Amino acid sequence: MPNCPKCNKPVYFAERKTSLGKDWHGSCLRCENCNKTLVPGSHSEHDGKPYCNYPCYSALFGPGGKCPVRSLSPTLPYLYNCRLVSLVGSASAL
Ligand SMILES: [Zn+2]
Ligand SMILES: [Zn+2]
Repeated sequence: MPNCPKCNKPVYFAERKTSLGKDWHGSCLRCENCNKTLVPGSHSEHDGKPYCNYPCYSALFGPGGKCPVRSLSPTLPYLYNCRLVSLVGSASAL
């Protein structure tokens, strides 16, 4: 029986979702950044971890690494992470 890459517990057939070549619990296949439930085959991946296509993947790892969601509430987790990424990026690049 495969182990879930997120929680390391066995994944039973009935609750299995296969994505990124691994078997996940349906409730464990979530965006690493915003915790949104993901649909197998309809999300992105970075470092073996699942991310939603938008806004997280495009904000964190998309072309230029720009944050396209600046106008949304600053309390949203992806905006918080996005700002962190921007800070790290500017500190090392400039
Ligand atoms: Zn799991
Ligand atoms: Zn997300």
